[in-house]
Amino acid sequence: MPVEDCQDAIRELYTFLDGELTEARRAAISGHLDGCHSCLEAFEFEAELRVVISHHCRETVPEALKERIAMLLAKDPATSD
Ligand SMILES: [Zn+2]
Repeated sequence: MPVEDCQDAIRELYTFLDGELTEARRAAISGHLDGCHSCLEAFEFEAELRVVISHHCRETVPEALKERIAMLLAKDPATSD
């Protein structure tokens, strides 16, 4: 099932990064990211964030970063192209 909807892609962001999606699902998400810059940005930001957090051995995400993610996710893909 292809991922057409940004909400679907974002909903699976964490599962994707945790490596808990099936191969087919990962491929569907990747396909969406190829054509959707705003989701790609959100995924890349989250992936980067995880590296930073693991480097600092932290288990919580700072509020400022959560807000940044929320801002990225709230962007309307139709107007950000
Ligand atoms: Zn999208």
